[in-house]
Amino acid sequence: MPEEKAAETQSKNVAPARVDPSFKHEVMKEHDGETLKTCFQCGTCTSSCPTARFSSSYRPRIVLRMAQLGLKNKVLSSNALWLCTACFTCTDRCPQNVEVASVLRVLRNLAVKNGIVPQIFLELTSNINDTGYAYRIPDLRQKKRVEAGLPPLPKANCVDVSKLIELTKGGKLLKK
Ligand code: SF4
Ligand code: SF4
Repeated sequence: MPEEKAAETQSKNVAPARVDPSFKHEVMKEHDGETLKTCFQCGTCTSSCPTARFSSSYRPRIVLRMAQLGLKNKVLSSNALWLCTACFTCTDRCPQNVEVASVLRVLRNLAVKNGIVPQIFLELTSNINDTGYAYRIPDLRQKKRVEAGLPPLPKANCVDVSKLIELTKGGKLLKK
């Protein structure tokens, strides 16, 4: 194929990623987000990450690089953001003192602000909002506790829980 034709075909097939140069500043103005700038892409975070060990797609180094490059939409809509278990191993091992786990937390918060949250987290938030527990405990489970001589589960103060969820903008997402 002549070179021009090949370039034309390529430009039709590959949509350029949208770059938002101000995105890294958005991240860096949040607490610990400023450490994003010192990442020099050594990969120690990924090689230390227990989640990355069991996932073929989760790579904290790549998430941070995309944030540095301003790939806002790609980062915020990435499921990878939600796979971090906040164990902080990456943060402990980063030679550049990047607060990796905290930067990921900042990115998740920005995703929430932009209304991007995986359905499962909305369901868990809805459970917490209504019952104070991440899972709705079935009546049968409560009965079994009584039969086993266990005390009933403590009741949550759902009014206060709802207020907290409202304050963190979670209420808005639940109403969608
Ligand atoms: S360990 Fe630190 S410097 Fe290395 S890639 Fe991860 S965040 Fe960047
Ligand atoms: S805090 Fe998140 S990114 Fe860091 S090692 Fe733990 S699971 Fe991996």
